[in-house]
Amino acid sequence: MSDRVWLVTGASRGIGADIARAVLASGDKLVATARASAGLAHLGVSDNLLSVSLDVTDEAQAANAVSASIDRFGKIDILVNNAGICLLGAVEETSAQQVDALFRTNVFGLLNVTRAVLPLMRKRRRGHIINISSVAGYSGYAGFGVYSSTKFAVEGLSEALHAELSPLGIQVTVVEPGFFRSDILDIGKSLIESAVRIADYDGTSGAVRAIVPQLSHNQPGDPVRLARALVELANSPDPPLRLPLGPDTLQRMAEKNAVVERETAAWRELAASTNV
Ligand code: NAP
Repeated sequence: MSDRVWLVTGASRGIGADIARAVLASGDKLVATARASAGLAHLGVSDNLLSVSLDVTDEAQAANAVSASIDRFGKIDILVNNAGICLLGAVEETSAQQVDALFRTNVFGLLNVTRAVLPLMRKRRRGHIINISSVAGYSGYAGFGVYSSTKFAVEGLSEALHAELSPLGIQVTVVEPGFFRSDILDIGKSLIESAVRIADYDGTSGAVRAIVPQLSHNQPGDPVRLARALVELANSPDPPLRLPLGPDTLQRMAEKNAVVERETAAWRELAASTNV
């Protein structure tokens, strides 16, 4: 087990920082990456640790991070695509520039790193890609519509990657955390807030906007436990495609599944009527 090499994106803060610490505590080797390598000082110094600068929006930096990993450890067994940012506001209230920023990090960034790592994993016919999605990647939330859409993209990519990579011996898991304590809902740190406010949304996204300041850093989920769960996931010989984390995610998933089932049953006749 101690021969395994992880690469974790966004290891400077929040969930990624706890995952990085849990990986080192497990005895595995770690390539910790962050936009500014100074943000990785919390990990200390260890023969098992390589710290690399990686802004996931920069494809060249992703290639460099992979080369540095190979130079130091010879391989990457587990990739955790964790880096992410969030956007608060009704869909109509968000700007094109904000939407672009979200997709550039949460989706295109994840793709940059995945494309850089995959040739190595394919060559070895082994590896595990763990994509950090969200409960919002399974069920859209008012006030977080654009963020949800980036995580829905991560879910679709993960399902397709799972289908494409399973035959090649590479595992893919998409992880759906509920609300966990981190900087993700901290305005000015990881949360972008739409400048525009439209009164018609006061009862929906506006209500979410109102509770975010109290929720930030008071979320029910413990990131240390999440990190330990990921190490346990990586230890499994048969990891799942989808791993929801937190009772809030489990409840939201069950609610959505019930709605989909109910609506599909109610509209089955029309839904099934469209073939020649
Ligand atoms: P966080 O505390 O705000 O940490 C976000 C991390 O992402 C930071 O390390 C940040 O690095 C990094 N990052 C942002 N943009 C980056 C970029 N372009 N390149 C590289 N790194 C970048 O938030 P978190 O909760 O730990 O979020 C981690 C992941 O979990 C995200 O994908 C998030 O969507 C997901 N998630 C979180 C929750 C939750 O409740 N916390 C729930 C569901 C999903 P810098 O220090 O350089 O900014």
